[in-house]
Amino acid sequence: MQVIFIGPPGSGKGTQAKRLSSQLAVPHISTGDMLREAVAEGTPLGLEAAPIMARGDLVPDDLMVGIVNERLGRSDASKGFILDGFPRTLVQAEKLNGIFGNGKTHLKVLQLLVPDDAIVKRIVLRRTCANCGAIYHLENNPPAKDSICDRCGSEVVARGDDNEQAVRRRLEKFHQDTMPVAAFYKTKQVLREVDGIGPVDDVFARIEKSLVDTE
Ligand code: AMP
Repeated sequence: MQVIFIGPPGSGKGTQAKRLSSQLAVPHISTGDMLREAVAEGTPLGLEAAPIMARGDLVPDDLMVGIVNERLGRSDASKGFILDGFPRTLVQAEKLNGIFGNGKTHLKVLQLLVPDDAIVKRIVLRRTCANCGAIYHLENNPPAKDSICDRCGSEVVARGDDNEQAVRRRLEKFHQDTMPVAAFYKTKQVLREVDGIGPVDDVFARIEKSLVDTE
């Protein structure tokens, strides 16, 4: 099972991708998580990516393709994967095609549809575990104990780029750079559009249905 999640920031990609990954027992590969890890560790990639991410811009394609290529080459990805946050540009989508040997794949692309006016509100209330990356929402899905991750007990914080200014830039980049990626997969007839509005369980049920329908 090879699944790509596409959606604007705050559309629920991370939450749903994590859940699908544990259900299907294939790795969840989030380029945002990989970059945040590199930033936290202060690696050369992290140092380059940090200011770009803080602004809500995109990290250069060649860097992203390099880390994804390396990650997909590891043995745990051989039986499948859930890609979250990649590809985000047409160049990345075309390179990914190349990594797969031009289309000999079982790729399914899920686009989560959430209107722009719902995004900013969602993101401002989003909180993320600083240690394990678990995602919460202060209204819809708060941690059981204030600011403490249910899963690992670490602190739950707002991501540095989850502020209104960066979110607006991320949305702009989504429309400009990532919507053409959805169109690219639509022409390949592997795109499944899923309504991303509503409780997490309902959206997940729609995702499951859309995957079954395509098999
Ligand atoms: P995310 O966690 O997916 O929202 O990603 C957070 C930030 O990491 C984005 O706003 C970008 O700055 C950067 N990023 C993540 N994935 C990519 C990608 N595929 N291409 C370029 N930049 C990325």
